[in-house]
Order: sequence, then structure tokens, then C-alpha cells
Amino acid sequence: MTRVGFIGLGNMGLPMAKNLRAAGFNVAGYDVAKAAVRAWGRLGGAMAGGIAEAVQGAEIVITMLPDSEPVCAAYESEQGILAAAPRGSLLIDCSTIDVETSRALAEKARAKGLDMVDAPVSGGVVGARAATLTFMVGGGKKAFQRAEPILRKMGKNVFYAGVHGNGQAAKICNNMLLAVSMIGTSEAFLLGERLGVAPQTLFDIASTASGQCWAMTSYCPVPGPVAASPANRGYKAGFTAAMMLKDLHLSQNAARTARMPTPLGAAAEELYAAMNKKGDAQLDFSGIIKFLARQAK
Ligand code: NAD
Repeated sequence: MTRVGFIGLGNMGLPMAKNLRAAGFNVAGYDVAKAAVRAWGRLGGAMAGGIAEAVQGAEIVITMLPDSEPVCAAYESEQGILAAAPRGSLLIDCSTIDVETSRALAEKARAKGLDMVDAPVSGGVVGARAATLTFMVGGGKKAFQRAEPILRKMGKNVFYAGVHGNGQAAKICNNMLLAVSMIGTSEAFLLGERLGVAPQTLFDIASTASGQCWAMTSYCPVPGPVAASPANRGYKAGFTAAMMLKDLHLSQNAARTARMPTPLGAAAEELYAAMNKKGDAQLDFSGIIKFLARQAK
């Protein structure tokens, strides 16, 4: 039975680890939050007391952590992944982090005889639970071929994006587009309602017309039209506004480094920063509609 060490059992990591276990992998889970480890234990998973214990004897090590800093801590601490993972094991980082950090960690892993791929995901908590995530993978072709069958147990689309860090690059471009389309969708529904068009009517029309987009048809920011949307449960995340702001910082930093102007990406960063500042950081990112509605006089 393939042994997997899984680090980070939060909103995404827990259901992903659960799906791997259901697919027959022997998964040892660890998280700094004891409550998250206990939740994993309640699902019948093997609970590790630290990273070194989680990766002991592992052929595959998966990280699903909030940001670059915790990923570096998990990889580079004294008892961390680079120190404790068995030689020859494959490291898969599914977190969304910055491109440069991802490339630097892959290089450090290579120096230790460890293969690494970056494999950030799209599809949210719903996709994590249903094992329908999309993975965008950066790294060597051979490492990709090793990672693909495991990723397919947690997702339905697995794309090879090219060299190390390219998975992250694809991910932050995707999320910049998602933020822009969520804001645009929210603006359209707010304006439509002000003009007297019921949200369901606008949804029926726009979801089959040229305004159609994922933010509307799968994650509609107004309650009603899409049953699974966070809008139907008080904008409980889901994918928090704090996480979206983090991804927008990543894409704006990358845009500055690459000297590629992204004016709508920059505007989205500003709006999500303002939403976070208002105390709504833990709301789902589709809650931007409430922030925009409050600007109305
Ligand atoms: P989360 O905050 O729910 O979970 C992260 C977990 O990591 C937490 O349980 C936390 O305790 C743990 N953690 C933090 N530092 C740690 C460390 N050093 N060692 C061990 N555990 C540690 O976050 P999430 O929503 O699961 O997101 C994880 C990643 O996936 C993020 O990079 C996010 O951008 C990305 N992502 C999230 C979604 C989503 O819809 N939530 C969608 C796509 C991508």
C-alpha cells in the first residue's frame, strides 16, 4: 500500500486526504492545529504528531498549506520535509504560493535527492470533497508522471504546465481572472436589481448569454440560483476573501516582476483589500457582493 504523508488538513487538505485514503492509500496526516488532526482521526486516518512522523517511510509527501511562509516552514524546519522525507520520495505541493519560492524549494529538494512538483488546485472545497479538482503541475516530466495517478484520485483534470513554478504561475493567472469575474458578476447582479430585474431572471438570461462565467453559473454571489453557492449559507467559506487577497498579491507581485500591466487585476486587489479591512476576511470571496452593495447610496 503506497504510504503518503499529508501536511495541512484544513478546508481543502482534509477532504483531499480523505479521498486518497478512500482510494486505498495509507495516509498519515499532520496539521499544526490539533483540532484539524483530531478531525482527520475521526475519519479513521492515521494521526501524526509532527512532520517527521507524517513523512516517515512515505513514498509521497503532499502539502496543502495556506501560503509561502508555512510551506517554507514545513519544508525547511529542522524536523521538516527536506530533512525527514525518505530519499527518492516525491514531494507534491498543492498550496498556492509564489512562483519564486516554489522554484527555490524545488531546487533545494533536488539537492537532497528528492523530486518535487508544484500542483496547485482549482475547484474549491466542493471540488476537494467530490474529487473533481483541477491540478496544474510544474516540474520535471518524470515527476509529473509519478504524481499524476495520485492527483487523479483527488481531481478530474491534471494539466502539465511546464517547468517548476509553472503550476503556480497558471494558478495565480486563473485566480486573478476569477476575482475579476466575481466582481463583474456581483456588479451586474447589483445593477440589475437596482434596475428592477430579479436576480433569478438575470441569472436565467446571463447564464445562457454572453455574460456566462464560472463565478455566475457555479458560484453565484446572490442567494438562490445556484444551490451549492456560499451565498445560500451566509457566505460561509469556501474560499475566504483573505485567501483571494493573498492570491491577488501573488499575481500583482508577479505582474510587477514580469512588467506586465494588469489594471483589472490591480483593481481587484484593491477591492479585496478593502473588503478584508472591513473585517470580512473570513467570509467567502463571493461575499464581495455585500461589500459592493454597501457602497451604494
Ligand atoms: P486552510 O487555512 O483551511 O488550511 C490550511 C491548514 O494548514 C490549516 O489547518 C493550518 O492549521 C495548517 N497549517 C498552517 N501552517 C502549518 C504548518 N507549518 N504545518 C502544518 N500545518 C500547517 O486553507 P485551505 O482553504 O485548505 O487552503 C490551502 C491552500 O489551498 C491555500 O494555499 C489556498 O490558496 C489553496 N486553495 C484553496 C481553495 C479553497 O477554496 N479553500 C481553493 C483552491 C486553492
